Formats: sequence, structure tokens, C-alpha cells
Amino acid sequence: MGAEDVKFRYPLDDIRTKTDIVELISTYVSIKRSGKSLKALCPFHTEKTPSFIVNEDLQRWRCYGCGEYGDVFTFLMKIENITFSEAVQELAKRAGITIQRSPAEGKWENDREKLLHINNAAASYFSQALLAAPHAMAYLHKRGVSQESIVKYSLGYAPEDWRALAGYLTSKRIDLRDAEKAGLVIKSDKGSGYYDRFRNRIIFPIQDVTGKNIAFGGRAIGDEQPKYLNSPESPAFAKNKTLYGLNHARKSIAQEDRAIIVEGYLDALTAQCAGFSNTVATMGTALTPEHVNLLSRYTHTAVIAFDSDSAGMSATLRSAPMFEQAGFDVRVLCMPPGNDPDSLLREGKASEFTRLVTEAMPVVEYRLKLLQDSSDLKSDQGKVEMLKKASAILADVASAVERDRYIRGLAQYHPNFSGGATRAEEQIRRDVDNQVTARGRASSRSPQMPRETAKPDAVKSRPSALTLAERCLLKAMIMDPIWGPKVIAELPPEQFATSQGITLASAIANRLAAEKGMAWNDLAEDLAGTEAADLLSELSIADSGPDITAQAVEDCLKRLKIHWKRQRLKDLAARVEQGEIRSSDEEFAEYWRLVQELHNTV
Ligand SMILES: [Zn+2]
Repeated sequence: MGAEDVKFRYPLDDIRTKTDIVELISTYVSIKRSGKSLKALCPFHTEKTPSFIVNEDLQRWRCYGCGEYGDVFTFLMKIENITFSEAVQELAKRAGITIQRSPAEGKWENDREKLLHINNAAASYFSQALLAAPHAMAYLHKRGVSQESIVKYSLGYAPEDWRALAGYLTSKRIDLRDAEKAGLVIKSDKGSGYYDRFRNRIIFPIQDVTGKNIAFGGRAIGDEQPKYLNSPESPAFAKNKTLYGLNHARKSIAQEDRAIIVEGYLDALTAQCAGFSNTVATMGTALTPEHVNLLSRYTHTAVIAFDSDSAGMSATLRSAPMFEQAGFDVRVLCMPPGNDPDSLLREGKASEFTRLVTEAMPVVEYRLKLLQDSSDLKSDQGKVEMLKKASAILADVASAVERDRYIRGLAQYHPNFSGGATRAEEQIRRDVDNQVTARGRASSRSPQMPRETAKPDAVKSRPSALTLAERCLLKAMIMDPIWGPKVIAELPPEQFATSQGITLASAIANRLAAEKGMAWNDLAEDLAGTEAADLLSELSIADSGPDITAQAVEDCLKRLKIHWKRQRLKDLAARVEQGEIRSSDEEFAEYWRLVQELHNTV
């Protein structure tokens, strides 16, 4: 759907005019007036001094810390994690504006509305049924679920009966064919009837981020299998995009800038009630890239707290790389054997859980720990085998500094350790280096991708904070002559983050050096036919926003400089490892300076 279609069908301008941006944003963050501008702490990144500016006249907002910006629609999309059309509809509803829908969209919307309506009826049936089922109530109380939580999470019970819900829905004049689409009843093989999907189970309504009942999870009370049963996929429910408890947790996740991810509904519920309000559950299903994407709206720090059993461990090892690929700082919480978050917290060990969250370890450390736990470290042969596998794990670590830290920890297991820690470390290091070299050879056979095209999808779907910072600097230099010389002095054009950015920054630097003006048209002429022409026109039509502040320029410069230094260190480290740079070279001095400078931030 093109932007023109959207404009044509949705009265966007009308909705925008009738929405008070200050009032909308104030429901989420507190806005303070400072001079003629309205400032707030940005809800999209963690900060102590406000860099989130609301411009009443333009009906726009922008954060000079993380680079996010937009209007009322994008604000609601980001903060509620909803789609553009959901944001438009929500704001239209609030402004009392009716939207005409296309037939296809109307049908989808009607289907979804219908299922949500049926789910609401089912939810109220399940919660009534819980009140009439002492054994289910007793089960919940035994699991430490308070009366307050039962209400907060709208918990319910599905009776041990084949047609309890089906009968109720029929009495409410709901067509069971629709209830089947919602996944609540199943068509019987014999005859024409329908029977209930959930029987003798505690019911956890699964809600989307706006709190709508999109599906149900049923947990067996006894030993029935499966232990967890979820509604099937429907127009209302996409399993791989839903995290249980996110509607309650999202604010804390954004505030604490960290999400705790557990396996089951009860784990999430118990953790949230015990004060870990930033906890969500994968609902017993595997974590997907969509889940990670969903969480990335609120934070880039994740703590995986899966069960301590082998299924939990392998789920952890499968999930962690997805977070790493999405740029998360991901840690693994090591649950004591035989525990899950629910059991631990139910024993009243909230402080123990806090300690485990704080001590959650990087993925490499977790892999090494699993390896050591499963190795026979009493025999020399066991130690040697463990070290061999450990070098393979360490070969995955990109930073040489970090690799060295692990090697120092492993040296005590080396058979030659008694001959001195240094010798043992050197031998392990050689093994790791051999693994790295072997992999380097394997990977250098495939052609190298330029870095800015390495992740085209990620860049297209949502500009990263880095590219936003780059754009902010470029725009500052074009719009205001005071910034050009300062920015170029601190960040030469070749140190910009993308190849388009490098080209545009070079053009700006050339005009500065020649003491020429910085008009959009002149720049466009300079860049005609280059890849940066698109970037320039994009910058020229992007919102004008409030004034570019010195603080914003500083922050963006800092972000780009760190990025460049990290890239530079990576390149140098690779060349040092391959023996291209010797310790007497000037580049080695630069390498060493960067290692020390970035030591704590790599
Ligand atoms: Zn921000």
C-alpha cells in the first residue's frame, strides 16, 4: 500500500488537527515547558536529562538522544507497538472521526473484531467458571497466585466437560463456526457438533500489547498432556509475535531498559507479582526473531531465564544468537538445578532471584559453564577434552581482549598448569588461534560484503540509531553554517557510518574547504548521479523539527565516533591476528590505544 493510498483512504490531516499532540504524549511521559520549547525524558531510550522535544506548532516530536522523531501517529505506533493503521484508527476513534474501509480490509477487520468479541465472551465464561471450581482455585492458591493476580491477569478455568463453553457461547447466540475460527471449539469427527478445546485447565487469557484478549493458554491442573495448550493461530493471534505479559511489562522494560524472558505463563505472572515487572514469557513455544523484534521496541538488553532442565538449556542456546544478531546485550540467568523462576519465587527467594538476574552471564560464559558442568574435570583426559571444546567456543568470540580473559580463567585446567599459568595460557591461546585461523580461511573464500549492505533488511525496516545520528549531523551541517567545520574537524568524512553518508559528508567538506555556500540545490548538483543523491533528497523533505541543539550534535558525534573506533579496532585486530601488523608498526600503537580506550565498551 503506497503512502498516497493511505492518505486517500484515511483523513490523516483531519485526525492530526483534531489530536492534541501535547495531551497525547503527556499520557505517557511528563512534559515540562522550558522557554518556548516542551521537553520530556524520552520514552524510547533511557536518559537522565530530557532530550525529547515536542513542537506544538508543527505537531511533531523528536528525540535528540536516540534520534527517533515523528508525529502523533508514529508516536502512538512506537509507544504502543502497534501498526500504522491501528494508530490511525485509535486516534480517529479518540477524535470522533469515522474511517471508510476498503472491502478487503473491512472484512479482515470484521473477522478480527468478531474473534475478539468471541474471545471476550469466552474470557468472562472462564473467569466465572473459576469461581465455581474450588479445586482450580485451590490449585492457584497452592501455586501462590493471589486473589489480586487472578483479577489482574483475568485468570479462568475451563471445566472438565466436553461442551461447557460451546453451550455457553451458543446461549450467547455466537455461531460455533466462528468460535472454531477463534480456536475455542473443535468440530467433532462424528456428527455435526463441536466440542471444547480447553478442558480441566487453568486458563490464561493471552493479551496483545493493548490488552485485547487475542488467544488463550491452558495449563493442565493434573498430569494431563500437553502441560500447556495454546489457542491455534487465527486472524487475532500470531503466536510468533506474541509474548505473554508484555502488555503489563512493556513500561517497566522500557524504564529499566531490560527484559527478563521466561518460559511459562506462571513464571511470568509470579515474577511480575514478585516485583520483576519487566518479565515476559514465550508461552512454552520457541523464541522467534519476531519476538526479538517486538522486544527491541522497548529495550536492547535481555536476560534469558529459562528452566534449568535440558530443554530449557537448549532453548537458551538457540535463543541467544537471535538476540545477538539483533544487537542485544544478552545474558543468561543460571537457574539453580531443579528450579524455574516460578518455583524459586514461590519459595520466597526474591532476593536470590535478584542476585541471579544481576549475575546473569554472557552467552560465551554460559556455554563454557555448561561444558565444564558436563565434563569430568577430575581426570587429565577429561580436562584436555574440555579445553579442546572450549577453544572452539572461544573462537566465536570476536574481541581478542575478551578471549584472553576467558583463556586466563581456563588455564587452571591445563595439564601444564603446574609448570606456570603463563605457559598454560599460551598453549590454550595457540589452540584458540588455530581455530580462528581455520575459520578465517573458510570464511575468506566467500567475498566480503561492504558493511553498510550487510544487513539491508534491518536498515530498511527501521533506521538504526546510528544512521539516525548520521543523518542528524549531516542535516545540522547543511542547515546551519556553524556546525560544518566543527563536525568535520572531529569526524572526517571517511569516518561516517554509511557509504551514502561518507559521500555526502565529503561533498559538504569540499564546499567548506572551497568556502562555498551550502544550499540544497548546489549540493544536489554536486551529488547528481551518486548514491548519496537519495539521502540528500530524503534529508531535505524530512520534517524540519525543532532547532538542532548543540547537545544533539554532541551526542550524535559521540555515537558516530565510538562506532568508527569500534570498526577500526575490529579491522586492526584482524590484521594483527593475521600477522599483517607487527608490534613495532605505528598501526600497532593505534591498535593498542584503541584496545585500552574501548576496553570497557567493546
Ligand atoms: Zn530518545
